[in-house]
Amino acid sequence: MSARVMVVDDILANVRLLEAKLESEYFEVSTAMSGIDALEKIQRVRPDIVLLDVMMPGMDGIEVCRRIKSNPATRHIPVVMVTALDQPEDRVRGLEAGADDFLTKPVNDVALFSRVKSLVRLKMLIDELLARNSNGDDLMLSDEVISAEEAGKPGKILLIDDHDQLARRVGKAVAQHHEIDFINDPSRALQQVEENDYELLMVNLDMESYDGLRLCSQLRSLEKNRQVPILIIIDPDDTRRMSRALEMGVNDYLMRPIDRQELLARVNTQIRRWRYTCKLRDNVRQSIAMAVTDPLTGLYNRRYMVTHGEALVDEAANRGRALSALLLDLDFFKKVNDQYGHDVGDRVLKELAARLKRQVRRLDIVCRIGGEEFVILLPNAEISVAWRIAERLRKSISDTPFDVGEKPGNLKIDLTASIGLAGFENSTDTLDVLLKRADEALYKAKESGRNKVVMDAA
Ligand code: GH3
Ligand code: MG
Ligand code: MG
Repeated sequence: MSARVMVVDDILANVRLLEAKLESEYFEVSTAMSGIDALEKIQRVRPDIVLLDVMMPGMDGIEVCRRIKSNPATRHIPVVMVTALDQPEDRVRGLEAGADDFLTKPVNDVALFSRVKSLVRLKMLIDELLARNSNGDDLMLSDEVISAEEAGKPGKILLIDDHDQLARRVGKAVAQHHEIDFINDPSRALQQVEENDYELLMVNLDMESYDGLRLCSQLRSLEKNRQVPILIIIDPDDTRRMSRALEMGVNDYLMRPIDRQELLARVNTQIRRWRYTCKLRDNVRQSIAMAVTDPLTGLYNRRYMVTHGEALVDEAANRGRALSALLLDLDFFKKVNDQYGHDVGDRVLKELAARLKRQVRRLDIVCRIGGEEFVILLPNAEISVAWRIAERLRKSISDTPFDVGEKPGNLKIDLTASIGLAGFENSTDTLDVLLKRADEALYKAKESGRNKVVMDAA
């Protein structure tokens, strides 16, 4: 993995030491020797991670961190505080200022590389989500992603530990702010996690009855909830297992003896970050959904129809699967608008969309490709099957008037539709060709009196 790392420390020897270590692992390193210098360079260099000394003359590391984290343009850059002594107060102050982790000088190589790698991995995920989440200049920045109220809600945590004493102590500290469930039988943990929406899993790595590392790896490979953050509790001299755990995707660790404030700060950081990534992911999903949906009817739009239609045509060509396309257009729809107004027309379209959806199988793709033109793609349907479906659709429109008044029963309109039908026939057919043939059939249906299904006779 290569990434841009910024090292900030007021003592040149410290800067050089970290720089040499990181460069030996092929990271690109830039350096700064004061808080002000660091803030300016971060804007310019856009590092993937910042290693930040706490004690610096002028602006100290805590303040630098606070500023990085309060600037929407830089707040997603992970910050690791580097503390001179093993001082829990510094760690806690750092985490409260928004730091993602800390390292203690002299910096241990295993801790350095595993923390840097895991945070950079997370940042890359967030970068990707942010990039996909941006609509032109309308970039969703972290500030707006989560409301303060949402961020302050108690988290849902599961603690997995078979020594109840530790669990009780940890639980007490955390339970004042969060909901915490305990499980002292690790073999039941996987099921418990699959059945609930936890926002953080805490695992005692040194259990008596179960291998904690194995449990972490099983949690990471669950079908559901595979990405929920995991925080492990570990002995400080167990660096080998710690780095194994981080490599398999454990997000953070707490060393014994557990400091309550540090515990809480780490729990809060993990939950905050988890909510942030979930929200970004949802936003991405939502904007993808919006891009392929027709806002009036909720059906797929033309863009989606083309993308999926082409894939279905490929499948039909390469694997000999059947495929039919159906083009439907309301008869004399203009009259509805002219007589009752556009709003009533819109209600007709919505009701029509609902009827179409109800009449087809789940794998059929119903799209509104224009004003009152609908395409339905029917995978695995021979043209004879498609014909029956088309007839059913036609009747579902002509047999029941459209109830489209302000109130139910107020205004009922009789409508009909014409449908053109075409089936995929030979492997040189493209989606365009298929739709063109359906369109010709539709034209014939209109010509020959409307309220009809016509099959393309290629
Ligand atoms: P035909 O039987 O030949 O299809 O007659 P028609 O009146 O339906 O003619 P055509 O299909 O050309 O008319 C399309 C009409 O659909 C024009 C427009 O008034 C109406 N329309 C298109 N989009 C919308 C929409 O989003 N909402 C509403 N209310 N009407 C729409
Ligand atoms: Mg029409
Ligand atoms: Mg039309």
